[in-house]
Amino acid sequence: MKKVRLDKIQGNSEVKKYLEKRIENGSFSHAVVITGKSGFGKKTLTNDIISAMACESENAPCGTCDRCKKISDNECVDIYIIKKPENRTTIPIDAIRDIYSSISYKPNDLDFKVYILEDGDKIPPRTQNALLKLLEEPPQGVYFFILCEDEKKLLPTIRSRCEVFNLNPFTHNELTELLKDMGFTENLDDIVSLSDGSLGTAVRIASGDNGILARRAVTDKIIELLLDRTGSEFGFISYQLENIKSSQDYFEVCRAVLSALRDIITVKEDAECALSYFYDTEKAEEYAQIYPCTTLLSMCDIFFDALQNENVNTRLSLMLTEYSSRLWKTKYNGDNKCQR
Ligand SMILES: [Zn+2]
Repeated sequence: MKKVRLDKIQGNSEVKKYLEKRIENGSFSHAVVITGKSGFGKKTLTNDIISAMACESENAPCGTCDRCKKISDNECVDIYIIKKPENRTTIPIDAIRDIYSSISYKPNDLDFKVYILEDGDKIPPRTQNALLKLLEEPPQGVYFFILCEDEKKLLPTIRSRCEVFNLNPFTHNELTELLKDMGFTENLDDIVSLSDGSLGTAVRIASGDNGILARRAVTDKIIELLLDRTGSEFGFISYQLENIKSSQDYFEVCRAVLSALRDIITVKEDAECALSYFYDTEKAEEYAQIYPCTTLLSMCDIFFDALQNENVNTRLSLMLTEYSSRLWKTKYNGDNKCQR
């Protein structure tokens, strides 16, 4: 039996272990949905899976045989990629009709054929319905991969016919190890905390960004003020945010605050969980005692809203005042509610 190792994407070890077993047993699902934010490796994982299924080496994918090479060079004629055309906002129904007309052809390079729907979020319901029949009774030797950021954009009927796999952001430890592997040595904990689980962001910060420590300090201070039970320190959050000079830094700090709040919410449910902002669970647990989940979630909403505003430079001070009063209300109301 061939041994499969999917190592093209980092992290997500549970999902990968499961997929490896399915490929080794020859029992891979005919229709899968892979979800995850942009940059989490959906396409890379899909290609790794297809190579592993196609490769005939003992340890697959070997990366060197004809099949592996064709797949990695995007030259395999049995892999059909369906994506949203540049000038359209959605995948047109014609794209699904094309699948129907090509599906019965025998594969050329491989023993099977693959259809990859790259913009799963961009398939209108009517077009999804057209796809449904194919997913219900796929012909032998045909596999469908639907890649999307938000699986809720897919009809329940589609989801129920597919195996759904979610790709997660990197944990603090995974990102730290990756940065070390790439030769970065300094301020790793701070860099990772500001990266919101994204390797791309982490590398950008690690490559010559000097304000990291300052931003980490600002974020720490905001979290501390945000969760201070007395509320007396609250006004200083605006002051902290005003110290941020560029809109990119502002976004980064907002994302880091969100990441910290998510950690705190997660710790409430599972003290053993992997965290992305906090170095260790102790501090997060301490904060988790202060507010109930509902209040923490309202705080998340506010920072999430802040991130949606593109004109952050011109509107910064106005937004800060507005957010301050909203935060204050959230906090004040939250204070009167029960603690978990
Ligand atoms: Zn191979």
